[in-house]
Amino acid sequence: MAEGTIMKALSGFYYVDDGASVYTCRGRGRLRHIKMTPLVGDRVRFTPSLDGSPGTLDEILPRRNEFFRPAVANIDQLVIIASEAVPVTDPFLIDRVAAIAQSRNCQCIICINKCDLADGQKLAGIYHRAGFPTLRISAETGEGLEELRSLITGKVSAFTGNSGVGKSSVLNALDPGIALSTGDVSQKLGRGRHTTRHVELYRLSCSALAADTPGFSSFDVDRMELARKEELQYAFPDFAPYLGRCRFQDCAHVKEKGCAVLAALKEGEIEPTRHQSYVRLYEQAKAIPDWERG
Ligand code: GDP
Ligand code: ZN
Repeated sequence: MAEGTIMKALSGFYYVDDGASVYTCRGRGRLRHIKMTPLVGDRVRFTPSLDGSPGTLDEILPRRNEFFRPAVANIDQLVIIASEAVPVTDPFLIDRVAAIAQSRNCQCIICINKCDLADGQKLAGIYHRAGFPTLRISAETGEGLEELRSLITGKVSAFTGNSGVGKSSVLNALDPGIALSTGDVSQKLGRGRHTTRHVELYRLSCSALAADTPGFSSFDVDRMELARKEELQYAFPDFAPYLGRCRFQDCAHVKEKGCAVLAALKEGEIEPTRHQSYVRLYEQAKAIPDWERG
């Protein structure tokens, strides 16, 4: 048996990379019994066939995390591409997807792309001060790409961002060999091409695995695990130094008296847009039901 990573899943076939070659496999056999659907990013044991017909997937190794929209597993970090040029990124969308990633044990890297068109200082400043690894990049001029390469080398990264922000262009600039199709911004926004695309992991020349995923709008928002008000605070790593210091133990950090998060906000230690996003997500989230509190 061999071990590898599922790079692509299409019509019942799984394309498994063992680091040297890619093998086509079917998901039959023992997997049926454990009723687990293999995901792109899964580490698997498989039996390649010798005669060129598809091999079989035998076992899915334990996942470090899983996302359903897009369906990917074992993502080390989410690379969030944003832009201050058209289409301008709403920080709320960055914060929402960053909170989802954080709640799944997945780091975030914030890249402000199209720096050749708009310098990106405002957004970059917010995320840098909030403690995220933040880069200003340009797929067009290559600015910042060497730093991005060094952050993704040896890891599995999923690239996300609003449509037209330059995800495909950045991946192509990182490694021209993968040749993703890129599009005119207005055309892309109109056709919603990203919603139907399958997810695929690419092995980049800098020894990184990277997935181009659909835009923010569909990034696990339906099944968002942030459905719990009480847990949302932990999805904002920049709030961490202040948690547990509020006057009330069950403080919501929205408008309570004696709130350490609000005090930090007032002191300029927490970014206003980060807190605004928290409040917006808090209002949308559900409370933990009493029967689960124990
Ligand atoms: P995606 O939807 O996020 O994959 O966006 P694309 O990669 O298809 O890019 C959308 C449009 O923005 C294309 O016309 C790209 O040529 C353009 N674009 C992407 N990155 C940059 C950049 O850094 N600078 C400039 N000037 N244009 C860019
Ligand atoms: Zn508080």
